[in-house]
Amino acid sequence: MKPRFINRLNQIEGWESLLSDAEREKLERVERIFPFRSNDYYLSLIDWEDRGDPIRRIVLPDPQELENTGRLDPSSERSYTRLPGLQHKYPQTALVLFSDTCGGICRFCFRKRLFLQRGKEVAPDIGACIAYIRAHPEITDVLLSGGDPLMLPTGELERAVCMLREIEHVQIIRIGSKIPAYNPYRILNDPELIELFRKYSSREKKIYLMTQFNHPRELTGAAIRALDELQRAGAMLMNQTPILAGINDAPETLAELLRSLSFIGVAPYYLFQCRPAIGNRSFTVPVERSLQIVQEAFRMCSGLAKRARFVMSHATGKIEVVGSMDERVFMRYHQAARSRNLGRLMAFSSNPDAIWFDDYLESGTDGAGDSFEYRPMASGEEAAI
Ligand code: SF4
Repeated sequence: MKPRFINRLNQIEGWESLLSDAEREKLERVERIFPFRSNDYYLSLIDWEDRGDPIRRIVLPDPQELENTGRLDPSSERSYTRLPGLQHKYPQTALVLFSDTCGGICRFCFRKRLFLQRGKEVAPDIGACIAYIRAHPEITDVLLSGGDPLMLPTGELERAVCMLREIEHVQIIRIGSKIPAYNPYRILNDPELIELFRKYSSREKKIYLMTQFNHPRELTGAAIRALDELQRAGAMLMNQTPILAGINDAPETLAELLRSLSFIGVAPYYLFQCRPAIGNRSFTVPVERSLQIVQEAFRMCSGLAKRARFVMSHATGKIEVVGSMDERVFMRYHQAARSRNLGRLMAFSSNPDAIWFDDYLESGTDGAGDSFEYRPMASGEEAAI
């Protein structure tokens, strides 16, 4: 199979008969603001009889996206951008925005700005990024992201991977990709891509593919075959997904996803709180409800399936939501932009409506009883903790 990509709703096969005129008009209005993209393989997974179908929710516009909420840059990535397309937030990790295209556009994407202002943030010169990484020996991990690096021609991806492999202090190359879910045939139909993993995921230095399966139904036979080929070629596979309303926010569904991933050797890595990006409100589950879902799902999982951490990718760092007790919620900096916050344990009064870390800060003290030196940031402002 060679899936056909489409960028307009009216290119969906049978579009006129799938939905009513009024429904189509509503979705096409969203599409004019937030672009749509998918392919016929992924669309074939939708149950069109079910208006709340999770696969449909992942990729088809939702009128609620037009509610005026959220920010273009919810994790203030701009604050950590050291040169066009390169972010350096944690000492050991550089993130390169390498592509501004994906196999589909997730409706809850936290980097929608890439699709709204195409080309503006993606690294225009990979050579400059390589030079920056070479000059920073503390960088051991490089994350190629975007957009989806697997949307690029294999030759272009290989040139970047090859240059990174020549830098001695770069140990791990991570590629963030939803292609195994959106279009596993990109992998199955390209022996050169498999060869790239075989060549550059060496005994000493691995390539990690960070997949994004949001729902167990995305793990089709073709997706599992593609993942297997990558594993056989030496890639390490980890999955990350936000908790998403109407997609994976039932504990049974989340547990099924985590368990299925563990069965095929894909390590559940991060479960994210949905970022408050523009248009994302209808996908967002409040933090404490998400925690409850994660904990209930974990009760149905083996140890290998529940390795994932539930985190918020906040402007100030990666904050793990550890648990709750007696009207208190406990969090810890798993990664921190400022090293003094690393590992810091925090306790907050319960706030069932909170959807982001900022919603807890006003009443917050950390585990040692110190109040925060924090002021909420405008998008793009430097972190203030
Ligand atoms: S794959 Fe990632 S970058 Fe691409 S649309 Fe989905 S969330 Fe956004």
